[in-house]
Amino acid sequence: MPLDESSELDELYREIILDHYRSPRNRGSLAQPSASSEGDNPLCGDEVRVELEIRDGRIFDVRFEGKGCSISQASASMMTEAIKGLSLAEVESLFGMFKGMMYSAGEVDAEALGDLEALQGVRKFPVRVKCATLAWNTLQEALEEFRKGQG
Ligand code: ZN
Repeated sequence: MPLDESSELDELYREIILDHYRSPRNRGSLAQPSASSEGDNPLCGDEVRVELEIRDGRIFDVRFEGKGCSISQASASMMTEAIKGLSLAEVESLFGMFKGMMYSAGEVDAEALGDLEALQGVRKFPVRVKCATLAWNTLQEALEEFRKGQG
């Protein structure tokens, strides 16, 4: 049977997701986070905690902890890698791009998304989209808390 291009792609994406799940990046907690938040996805039993250290309007450092399915934990790991060093405005724009990828079938900017692109196959399974977006929604809450604190 000849190899179909799309199944090959899916295989690659699956590998990237499993790699983040098995070897999560930036897992743990920060000594003095500027902001943090916790979120859960009761449909699947996923939990994520995100801690941020924000300096001069940038994500200076980020850590996450959590448990749940591979999609939720891999997505959190990918997110921490993607946002480290970005300004808060750049984080917003990346979040918009990520949501665009998860909720619509349009083209994606693979270069900007990096490993996050591997999650695009998840949009075929609406229940799992909640798993993939959990870390991002939790990040949003942490950023809101931070902004409130800045008054
Ligand atoms: Zn899940």
